[in-house]
Amino acid sequence: MSEIQDPNASQQLGLADASGLSNQRSQKPPDPVPTMHRGLPYILDDLGTETSRKQLQTARSVLKYVNDSRVPTLDKTTHIDFLIEPLEDGLSRGFTGLDASRPWLLYWCINALALLGVDVGGYNERVVSSLKPLQHKDGGFGGGNGQAPHMASAYAAILTLVVTSYYESRDLPKDRWMGVYARSFGWIDRQKLLDWIRKTKLRNGGFKVNEGGEEDVRASYCALVILALLGYDEDELRGDVSRDEKPLLDGLLDYFKRCQTWEGGIGAKQHSEAHGGYAFCVLSALCLLGEPQDVLTKYLDLDQFISWLSARQYAPEGGFSGRTNKLVDGCYSTWVGGCWSLVEAAANGIESSGTGFDIDSNVGSLWNRKALARYILACCQDPHGGLRDKPGMRPDYYHSNYVLLGLSAAQNYYYYDNAMSLPSSIENSPFKHGFCWKSSRNVPKPSTSEGIGGGWEEGLVSNERSRVGTQHPLFNIPLHAVAEIQEWWGVAKGAEIL
Ligand SMILES: [Zn+2]
Repeated sequence: MSEIQDPNASQQLGLADASGLSNQRSQKPPDPVPTMHRGLPYILDDLGTETSRKQLQTARSVLKYVNDSRVPTLDKTTHIDFLIEPLEDGLSRGFTGLDASRPWLLYWCINALALLGVDVGGYNERVVSSLKPLQHKDGGFGGGNGQAPHMASAYAAILTLVVTSYYESRDLPKDRWMGVYARSFGWIDRQKLLDWIRKTKLRNGGFKVNEGGEEDVRASYCALVILALLGYDEDELRGDVSRDEKPLLDGLLDYFKRCQTWEGGIGAKQHSEAHGGYAFCVLSALCLLGEPQDVLTKYLDLDQFISWLSARQYAPEGGFSGRTNKLVDGCYSTWVGGCWSLVEAAANGIESSGTGFDIDSNVGSLWNRKALARYILACCQDPHGGLRDKPGMRPDYYHSNYVLLGLSAAQNYYYYDNAMSLPSSIENSPFKHGFCWKSSRNVPKPSTSEGIGGGWEEGLVSNERSRVGTQHPLFNIPLHAVAEIQEWWGVAKGAEIL
């Protein structure tokens, strides 16, 4: 971490107002506080348990923040300072225990900075030099120097490389653009990485996080993201019969299907408890392998899933919990909010670039975006910078990234475009569906009973200074970075750079 240099990010922000959170209030006349944020729930469980007491305690403490007619503005300046500090000054001794999470720390800070509008390209060269020693001699990436490879480490490492190379190269002429991508990805041993991922494949169709490690759907999602972003094609995934290799994706879709629980949510593996994080992994993985309205209805009971997902948003808090009987937590803004983006795309159907993005939506917006934004802005901003789980908790890099990503989900509508033109490198990719996503700041309302478009949701962003960047709904990195990395693999394969 100490290798990271200053990319002069703060100068590129154009943020004139650097005052504190308490001064960053909307200048417009405040809107009335919606009823759901004005008091405790009408129905309270009179069977007192530790769970119900904690829930009531949390609702009371959060109420003080959300029952305010003025929603705070996102204090970008202090959050940027919080996120740049570890990249510039290194981490304190207290972080020694996170030595196996080096790629994660890079990803969380850098992606969160990108969400806040910082040009993170200046970090690219040092990210490459920080991640190179993590590549294992037998393939894959460890979390720290000399450590065994792990699927989550590899996932975070690849995401960080994709984000920083995109920013570093986006204004460059073609030859220098190629130079940035060659520097960022040319040193990765793709064959050994594929061989290593193959060793984590399970007979039941899923993956485990490493050899001898645990099985969960997070491993499968991370494996698919790595394979998709590093441009592996059908032939590579099919495997070499002479080496007794089997197709890498065999049985995976049915494996995901078995992970849906009796509650309607999705667990870490079959017979596990439904959980927002695992739900996001499965929905995103499914959408990497097919069109959302096909895969989410074929491999899930979508009605049951929506029922469980709806129960994750709480009143008066406005934020999400990750599981039944658990408290609201800012990071589920991504894990649960991200599920809503994909469910809405499936329910509203395909938008085609041939006809343009219209307002012919079936169901419109299915969750309370404004309530989540209120929870995030009022409860998750630490006055000294950084974002957090809930009031009273300390901010951290993980929550900073996933709270901001959730805010992006609340501010944008994502849709699948089956007429999107894709680079030739993707045509033979089993993950091509993952590259057909677009975003809109207009969030549709449902069509009327006569089938007439219902218009757009109004007032989703209370103050333009609270707007964050647009992210890809499956990869959780800036939307346009995903198209660029595919462009690179097309060039690299055509030029036989690989
Ligand atoms: Zn959390």
